[in-house]
Amino acid sequence: MDYSTASTGLSSPVFDHVHVLSSWDTVELSAAAADLAALAARCEAVLIPGLDLEAELLAGWAADDPRLLLPPPQAFAAIGKPGAVAAAALGLALPRSRVVADAAEASAFAASTGWRAWVKGSRYEAIAVRDRLQLTAALDRVRTIWGDTEVLLQEHVEGAEESLVFAAAAGELLGAAWMGKTMVTVEGKTWAGRVREPAAAERERLARFVALTGWTGGGEVEMVREAATGVRYLIEVNPRFPAWVHGAAIAGVNLPARLVSAATGLSPEVEEKAERSGFVRVVLEVPARFEQATEGRDRERPPAAKHPSAMPVLSRRRSAPSQDAAPEPAAMPVGEVDGVLTPHRLLSAKALTESLADIATVLTAVQEETGVEGRFAYSVKTNPDARVLAAVRRAGGLAEAISQDEAARALRAGFRPDQLVLNGPAKWWRFPGGPADYRAVFADSVADLQRSLDLVESGAVRAGALGVRVAPLGGRSRFGVDLSDRSEFQALMRVLRRARTPVTGVHFHHAASRIGAAAWVHQAASAVDLARTALDRAGHPHELLDLGGGWPSGFPVAEYAAALSEVVGSTGSAPPLALLVEPGKFLVERCMSVLAEVIEVSRARGRVTAVVDASVAELPDWLSQVHPVMWRRDGRWFRLGPGAGRLHGRLCMEHDVLREAVGLPPELARGDRLLFCNAGAYDASMSYRFGV
Ligand SMILES: *Cc1c(COP(=O)(O)O)cnc(C)c1O
Repeated sequence: MDYSTASTGLSSPVFDHVHVLSSWDTVELSAAAADLAALAARCEAVLIPGLDLEAELLAGWAADDPRLLLPPPQAFAAIGKPGAVAAAALGLALPRSRVVADAAEASAFAASTGWRAWVKGSRYEAIAVRDRLQLTAALDRVRTIWGDTEVLLQEHVEGAEESLVFAAAAGELLGAAWMGKTMVTVEGKTWAGRVREPAAAERERLARFVALTGWTGGGEVEMVREAATGVRYLIEVNPRFPAWVHGAAIAGVNLPARLVSAATGLSPEVEEKAERSGFVRVVLEVPARFEQATEGRDRERPPAAKHPSAMPVLSRRRSAPSQDAAPEPAAMPVGEVDGVLTPHRLLSAKALTESLADIATVLTAVQEETGVEGRFAYSVKTNPDARVLAAVRRAGGLAEAISQDEAARALRAGFRPDQLVLNGPAKWWRFPGGPADYRAVFADSVADLQRSLDLVESGAVRAGALGVRVAPLGGRSRFGVDLSDRSEFQALMRVLRRARTPVTGVHFHHAASRIGAAAWVHQAASAVDLARTALDRAGHPHELLDLGGGWPSGFPVAEYAAALSEVVGSTGSAPPLALLVEPGKFLVERCMSVLAEVIEVSRARGRVTAVVDASVAELPDWLSQVHPVMWRRDGRWFRLGPGAGRLHGRLCMEHDVLREAVGLPPELARGDRLLFCNAGAYDASMSYRFGV
């Protein structure tokens, strides 16, 4: 039984009769549920739904029908994503997640995972997202295909996927099998697996879960076992048998047969028999049962085989019609804007003060945890605005420069030479010759270390500390010395052994906003450990640890401090004497926004689109984040919520789209002012002139 002749499974020769029901877009839902129940009765059959939404619909309309082998409504409540009830009952961990409607919020969460996240619809679909473009495309897809206005954003867990499949009748477990995926498709769907009996404890928890929910029918618990820790995380619970359920029958556990027996009292015709403990999937061609339509438009391009059962239609019908959210009043984000010529970048001194206080809190927490005193050196390249540099200096920060130009700029902003930290491969480019003073100098390569040592030993450079930057092990960055490479390690040792000046610093920087905090801790701790070993063997004392930047704006202060503490703590009984961190975007991203004016508003193809006089030239970091947008109305600011609107930039470039999935109010008109927030980091330092 299915909902369209395009469902190819209907052509399987095992069926002696097939029913094709009306498509979900034409029927009345309660009548469709009643028809399904009536069909089962007429055929003297039982119905085992194979589609999540079909099961959910039937549970709502006809839960008591004994012919319908599906979980009761309370079971659906227990498995609703992210699945806290099910995870607790099954003794599984839950990946960090957040339910979001707003694309800017979604982007902030994804950044906090290092862009290793999944976008999940409330019922269907899980899309892996690695950057801003994939994220907005996924949000748009879940919204337009499935009708969800909110999605679940979940942190990716690295590890092997496994499942439990089970059958139950009225809360009693009829049987279960464990399956580990041994081959998956690009979408992560099972292509081959190995099957065994669940462990005793696993079966016991499953039995408790089934009893708790009063489960009837088939089900599947999808999990992932984290490679680094062995901890098992719940991905989701499906209210139906999975497509691979026959794989369990091959291994000797025929769950559909047990379910039908329990419901009807009939004993199975074929006895259970374990043929193999593994299964593989094959694709085969069979004679088509139905004439396949090739008329009209279909002739140019055959329809995709995805969703012939029209589940998206059913999903949209069961969702509230999606509407743009109304703008919400917001506190004054910036000072007076009347008369300001747009586009214009504005500084919020208040936000800057707050983030400077945040970094102080982080360093205090790290000192309390590890006993190591820390200071921060602001990364000048992230935003070299003189007002930012002045605020950093007043807050007691140092300045981190990657060129002599940047160092000179910091000096002009009032920093003393001994408040400068030099970093990067180009620090001696156009070096005027000294003598010059620096708080700390970190070499980016073995050759750069040699050159820096020569400069120090010739008296051209005085450095409070000289150090070396280490790359994440295994060549995952273009910067620093990769100590997992034997020849680089040996080259470093040769230079260190010859050096007459102590080399006391170790520097690690790899953006946590790209790789996630957990991977950052792991990479930093292992690279720093090896670097300290090298210093130690060459007879240099390790005194200064510099842990770089790369933390997203708004990253939770406690988590930032915990990550730093963990790396400092990993140095064991010989901690460094001092810690340096080099925040860039963590300090400044929130502190600037771009004011723009609406040039034109159009309503076409069911969407509102506005063109503004800002562009990707003022917001060039468009690939890495989604900017929250404020709207000015009658002298007040409103934050724009989620919706179907789009904001286009003024440039004649296809990619000059500043926002998608934003709710644009009906009153929005030409001449209105909008504010693109969080534009204070690379959106500022990388902005460019285009055309004029
Ligand atoms: C760019 C940079 C930083 C700052 O990075 P953010 O991503 O802006 O926090 C810190 N240290 C070094 C060595 C850098 O190159």
